[in-house]
Amino acid sequence: MKDWLVRGGLRRRLLFMNLLSIAAGAIALLTITIIFAPGLHDRLMIAWLGPHWTDAADANMVEMERATNEIFTLAMLQALTISSGAAMIVAVVVSVVISRQIVQPIEHLLQTTHRIATGHYSERVPLLGDHELKRLASQFNLMAAALERAEQRRIALIGDVAHELRTPLATIAGYIEGMLDGVVEPDEATWALVLDEVYRLRRLTNDLQDLSRLESHHIGLHLEPIEPIHLIEAALARLRPQFTTKGIALSVQVSPHLPPVWADRHRILQVLVNLLGNALQYTPTGGQVIINADTNGNAVRFCIQDTGIGIAAEHLPHLFERFYRVDPSRTRATGGTGIGLTICKALVELHSGQIGAASDGPGQGSTFWFTLPCCMI
Ligand code: ADP
Repeated sequence: MKDWLVRGGLRRRLLFMNLLSIAAGAIALLTITIIFAPGLHDRLMIAWLGPHWTDAADANMVEMERATNEIFTLAMLQALTISSGAAMIVAVVVSVVISRQIVQPIEHLLQTTHRIATGHYSERVPLLGDHELKRLASQFNLMAAALERAEQRRIALIGDVAHELRTPLATIAGYIEGMLDGVVEPDEATWALVLDEVYRLRRLTNDLQDLSRLESHHIGLHLEPIEPIHLIEAALARLRPQFTTKGIALSVQVSPHLPPVWADRHRILQVLVNLLGNALQYTPTGGQVIINADTNGNAVRFCIQDTGIGIAAEHLPHLFERFYRVDPSRTRATGGTGIGLTICKALVELHSGQIGAASDGPGQGSTFWFTLPCCMI
């Protein structure tokens, strides 16, 4: 019996459960009727004929009352048996219809789950059934869409990484082959070029490792209250000499009495150095870079503004995507990995902050900003 139920699936089990509850109800109804019906009949008869009717009644009348009681009980039992049978038939029909409504969406879910598990991430389930089943199906579809996006990102990442590795590896191979064939001189300059490419590969793998840790939330933050000006000064201390060498004016405008921010000193320094490094890289000699910090609601907004090459509007929404470069050949030549801004975004968001970029277009300079929550003490 158990096997028969299991083999029949949810539809058969639902039907069986419905029949079981109807049968239990019918048995209860019959038992209660058999127990109480004769007594009730007697009480009603007494109420109708009066409490002392037996004193005046003859034997025939008493016998008749007993017979009507038996006939009444029998009729009642027959009616109940017929109606129980009819109820069972109606229940079978109704439960077949209802179980189809419940089972069909669940079967769809099962089939689609199996398809997704075997790599068909674009599969979705139709929104069928009652309110809860429709909600379950729509939540399932949301989950399937998230899985599909994750799979697309994974495939894109493999392609991007392969593409990024190919260029330096091809250059290194080219130099070494040239030296082996005697076409390229194995002098200091050649080895320096090879070493440059090796450094680029190292930067790329370090950035990728950072990004992977950040995106999988395997980075713990050591949050502490920090004065915004201390973060800016630490970043400037690292990069000021390079600004001076390139001939770019650097100025700081920080509002007085800024509240401290909740931040991991090293991680936010990494963000500031990255944004300042980009400003240095994309601003020609004679340009200017301004760093400012101001309050913005319950946050402090850091802003790095340059008078550099600027960014066209169509590129702005993609700047924080992995490996996105406005001018790939140019940035690759300067050693950029195209991951710096993605790391900055992940770090700022880990601090519950926001990050963004603005520019009036090519040649008009750019502004990169991010916010950090204030520390209310
Ligand atoms: P990269 O290591 O290539 O600089 P990033 O993620 O830091 O990578 O930057 C992504 C792209 O955004 C850069 O390739 C560049 O095209 C553009 N970019 C970033 N900062 C600036 C800036 N200050 N001015 C103009 N373009 C910028």
